[in-house]
Amino acid sequence: MALVNDHFLKLPNNYLFADIAKKVNAFRVTHPRADVISLGIGDVTQPLCPAVVEAMHRAVDEMGTREGFHGYGPEQGYDFLREAILKNDFVSRGIHLDLDEIFINDGAKSDTGNIQELIRWDNSIAVTDPIYPVYIDSNAMIGRAGLKGSDGRWSNVIYLPCTAENGFVPQLPDRRVDVIYLCYPNNPTGTVISRQELRKWVNYALRNDTLIFYDAAYEAYIADPDIPHSIYEIRGARKCAIEFHSYSKTAGFTGVRCGYTIVPKDLTAATLEGRRIPLRPLWDRRQSTKFNGTSYISQRAAEAIYTPEGRSQVAETIGYYMQNARRMLSTFRRLGYRVYGGENAPYIWLKTPGESGSWQFFEELLYGANVVCTPGVGFGPSGEGYVRFTAFGSHEQTDEALRRIEKWNG
Ligand code: PLP
Repeated sequence: MALVNDHFLKLPNNYLFADIAKKVNAFRVTHPRADVISLGIGDVTQPLCPAVVEAMHRAVDEMGTREGFHGYGPEQGYDFLREAILKNDFVSRGIHLDLDEIFINDGAKSDTGNIQELIRWDNSIAVTDPIYPVYIDSNAMIGRAGLKGSDGRWSNVIYLPCTAENGFVPQLPDRRVDVIYLCYPNNPTGTVISRQELRKWVNYALRNDTLIFYDAAYEAYIADPDIPHSIYEIRGARKCAIEFHSYSKTAGFTGVRCGYTIVPKDLTAATLEGRRIPLRPLWDRRQSTKFNGTSYISQRAAEAIYTPEGRSQVAETIGYYMQNARRMLSTFRRLGYRVYGGENAPYIWLKTPGESGSWQFFEELLYGANVVCTPGVGFGPSGEGYVRFTAFGSHEQTDEALRRIEKWNG
């Protein structure tokens, strides 16, 4: 008899976006003529930029020739892409990395979920709250998160609340923890971390022998020159942090699939006997065993983002989304809502008015304005009383949604 991994049974049945889809479908059944606009889901809408499309065409043509065919590639990624990453994302910011500290992946979701395999099941973990659900759920699947209580909190997870009251800057844990997940610019709050604040986290990690998993999936949206794009801009981070990047929101790769993870050589974790073990070779071993590399075509596509044409085309699309964000911020403010984020990130975090909870506001907006947002409580207990809007729609849809919200507000 095969025994099931019963940690899976502790996970809530439904994924947030499935719950939302169910409610929207119920609305559609009773309002068949309503045209619902979603400002909720995190997928992008604008097409791949021409430089990327051309690179993919070229790669496909190559694959159709005997000389240019590529089968299994290196599990860690091709050097042409690693070199482009090193030069453009790190050396240009004064960060030195070795090529073999860069691991190409099929998007940040896989690696942010898989990385916890490198540490024992009984490490303590802390997360900022609200948070991208993959971090906790992936720990829950192997039993590290404990049990989920009726208050929405997992028993073995330390929650670091980020709310309007603390300006969305989490307090350092009041005890030592083994692992901390940080995500900046943040999904879902759209807020960022200053260099000075990030330095406090790195110093905490160095003092307490804590490992930081730093998700920088949205760094391309940073406009403020004082906001760090990488945790390695902070001295000492090479000794305590793993960093995740994604081309999904940077360049519309949600359907192409490519990103990368940095595991520095200086990073170690301890055995029970106190021996220090470098994590980079372990991740290399893990990837070589369980991952067969990102497709050659996707990696050539990612490389094209770093060409002069690619850079300017990608910046244009990001500018397009951020124009939505500005329109949303100004409309919401004019209507008297308290809104956060949306300046260095494609997410806007709105405080629901009065006592209305996240799901209540979601339903009122759906039924009143036929617009879909994402209930903040779906991202963690501190998200209650907030909803998330995304800037990934088209200008037309976003403007129409804002017009309806304005009308609904009277
Ligand atoms: N990290 C964060 C914070 C995200 O919001 C997402 C996607 O929404 C991801 C990682 C995963 O991105 P992908 O797997 O598409 O690279």
